[in-house]
Amino acid sequence: MVTRPLEIAGRDDEPVALLPTRLTDLEGRVAGPLLRPGDPGWDNAVLIWNGMVATEPRLVLQPTSAEDVSAAVSFAADHGVLLSVKGGGHNIAGTSLAKHGLTLDMSRMRDVVVDPDARIAHVGGGCLLGDVDRETQRYGLATVLGFISEVGVAGLTLGGGLGYLSRRFGWTVDNLLEVEIVTADGRIQRASRDENADLFWAIRGAGANLGVVTRFTFRLHEVGPIVHGGIVAWPFEQVDEVLETYQTLTAEEWHGKRICTMAICYSGDLKKTDAVLAPLAALGEPVFDLRQNQPYAQLQSSLDATEPKGLHYYWRTHYASELSDGLLATAKDLAAENPIPAAEVAFLHLGGALCDHDWDDGAVGNRDARYASGAIGIWEPDDPNEIAYQQWIRNAGERFRPYSTGATYINFQTADEGGEQIRATYGANFERVAAAKQQYDPDNVFRMNRNISRAAADGRS
Ligand SMILES: Cc1cc2nc3c(=O)[nH]c(=O)nc-3n(C[C@H](O)[C@H](O)[C@H](O)COP(=O)(O)OP(=O)(O)OC[C@H]3O[C@@H](n4cnc5c(N)ncnc54)[C@H](O)[C@@H]3O)c2cc1C
Repeated sequence: MVTRPLEIAGRDDEPVALLPTRLTDLEGRVAGPLLRPGDPGWDNAVLIWNGMVATEPRLVLQPTSAEDVSAAVSFAADHGVLLSVKGGGHNIAGTSLAKHGLTLDMSRMRDVVVDPDARIAHVGGGCLLGDVDRETQRYGLATVLGFISEVGVAGLTLGGGLGYLSRRFGWTVDNLLEVEIVTADGRIQRASRDENADLFWAIRGAGANLGVVTRFTFRLHEVGPIVHGGIVAWPFEQVDEVLETYQTLTAEEWHGKRICTMAICYSGDLKKTDAVLAPLAALGEPVFDLRQNQPYAQLQSSLDATEPKGLHYYWRTHYASELSDGLLATAKDLAAENPIPAAEVAFLHLGGALCDHDWDDGAVGNRDARYASGAIGIWEPDDPNEIAYQQWIRNAGERFRPYSTGATYINFQTADEGGEQIRATYGANFERVAAAKQQYDPDNVFRMNRNISRAAADGRS
């Protein structure tokens, strides 16, 4: 029998020695398994999307209920253990893994219950986007979720949440009705606009800082089940025309070779598809055109294969309030100069319903963001050019900066972006976010995230 204490990372950088009896106590209080390195399921439990920032905890607990989560949070708080929470593991900064600490892997909490009459879905805190789309689409319903079906609902939602449906229905958090959350004191609480309203406000954009969400309740909308969408590509020589068409199309509200593409989702009246997308036809024969009328849930997972886990990913992104000529020219220059074999210079079309609410309706803010611009690089873990590629991406970010609102999407911030970027993102909402953090997590138990306490302290120093 092993009797040596387990050395595990502490919250305050000092390691903590945990007696085996402590771990036995914890195991006795939870139904889910406590994994050690080498246990069956360990590798998957610590696998995250961005191999460049991968690290390993000492322990992984896979809770099966809010009570399990509560026991684990209390355990971490009582013993000063560094704690992290893993949803889909897709955060580019790798914030779901606590290096040498304790990670809660939420993958056993993936139940989805749809009430089609009330048009709501109750979603487990460990769900992936695909879990939710699959269940809600049985009824021709959907909430706003992102473009890759293996991303976690929790991480995406707690930072705001964007996807094809955002322009119709707003941020994911605009469609969030209620959460069940375990706060730093181990309490299982509910938060909504009517109950713990201040907590609910902060969760809608800064949620990863405030607790572990064990259940989300979302409002659903009629979507599809057939929508029109897919990717169309043209030769890079046509970049000017393609960008101009993208500018027109979006402004009017309605391997190997360089190409320019548009990924499209039109979830409106399918009879109007040709008219709405007419400017695309005017661009002539594309390299390929994968668009078709297809089930919404299929479109939602059609890009998954472009995002395998474990490669090295790096990017810089900015919100922009308009697609100015200068911004388009910068994007074109960057795309032409880009030295990284697998890279994208990209825009996301935001605006629409995302801008309908007031800036201070939830922590998410950024209601003036009508586009996001980005330079994205992907390479193999052993690529000798990693440093040069990272530098190129950072420079690309600097060239986009003059066209930025000054803020960036919290869920897109990389591990090396600092507290000033977090403060800029919450902008006028930052003081309120910081006050919620101080109230609900004064000891910064939840620190494996884009951390509000540290950003606030940086701002004061
Ligand atoms: C390939 C790719 C595509 C993306 N597409 C989109 C998109 O279309 N739209 C969009 O809005 N964003 C998108 N993102 C960004 C994405 O929203 C963030 O990376 C988000 O953090 C991922 O959530 P996750 O649960 O997968 O990540 P994780 O790395 O598991 O978690 C992210 C953060 O949330 C915390 N967290 C996880 N689960 C919980 C929980 N239950 N309770 C409390 N905190 C929790 C973690 O501790 C961590 O700090 C994309 C990212 C990638 C890599």
